[in-house]
Amino acid sequence: MSNIAFLGLGNMGGPMAKNLLAAGHTLCVFDLSAAACEVLAEAGAAVADSALAAVQGADVVISMLPAGKHVAATFLGESGLLAQLPAGTLVLDASTIDAETAKQVAADATARGIDFMDTPVSGGVAAAAAGTLAFMCGGTAEAFARAELVLAAMGKKIFHAGPAGAGQVAKAANNMLLAVHMIGTCEALEMGVRNGLDAAVLSEIMLASSGRNWSLEVYNPYPGVMETAPASRNYDPGFMVDLMVKDLGLAEQVAEQAGVDNQMGRLALALYQAHQAAGNGQRDFSGIMQKVQEG
Ligand code: NAD
Repeated sequence: MSNIAFLGLGNMGGPMAKNLLAAGHTLCVFDLSAAACEVLAEAGAAVADSALAAVQGADVVISMLPAGKHVAATFLGESGLLAQLPAGTLVLDASTIDAETAKQVAADATARGIDFMDTPVSGGVAAAAAGTLAFMCGGTAEAFARAELVLAAMGKKIFHAGPAGAGQVAKAANNMLLAVHMIGTCEALEMGVRNGLDAAVLSEIMLASSGRNWSLEVYNPYPGVMETAPASRNYDPGFMVDLMVKDLGLAEQVAEQAGVDNQMGRLALALYQAHQAAGNGQRDFSGIMQKVQEG
């Protein structure tokens, strides 16, 4: 069992930290929100009043922060944590951020003898609570061997994607594909319905045919087809449009840096930005169905 410092106890980090406690790890936590810390204190974690205080004596540091700028401010520079942590510490950043920042943090960590991995997740709040997240890890094989032991308490599938930054690239690629097949699924269903087909029957046909995909399989965007999907509860999230727009923006950067002309990804970003601007940022991303229906 490890002494773990956990930074960032929001919708994802809170339940992830609880699962580490349940697995028997010792936790010291920090979040800017006192209320978020209080929830973890009740679950048995020690609460620190700064990130620096939280990492004292920790052999593993895990962060789950909103974006790249928060990760850079937490770890880099004179006042950042990397300058304070002893060599040999394992640092895992599970936030979804740009691959460039992840590589910068990894380079600084390596120079100080600290093992860093970018370990973004797929699965959302329900999977965070259930301990069934998928982790996509970027870093060395040695760091991955150490990381797996800790991540197992929070996730079911743990992948070594490649070197530093590869976890963020994998996450960006996955979510870009998710957005594209979600929009395509919405268009296919609407096309069928307006031509007189039943959405549930068409879904069944496509599920048994070559159009099969995750959006059809577990997250049908057409209201009433799948009881458990956000579409059947007025597109309450789920996975919010705001987060999809963020992830598609990160995918844009990844594509641009590699000189890939990802036209479908850019179109998906534009459609989700328009849906967000129409006041749907806090609603589920499968609600893009309504944009397709409105035309
Ligand atoms: P959130 O906004 O609910 O939580 C972020 C937490 O970080 C907040 O509690 C905030 O107070 C805290 N925080 C911000 N700056 C801090 C700092 N400097 N030090 C300590 N704490 C700080 O966000 P979330 O939904 O938990 O998402 C976290 C990350 O996970 C994001 O990068 C997001 O893109 C990614 N993600 C989210 C989901 C999802 O479904 N919510 C799914 C996969 C990945």
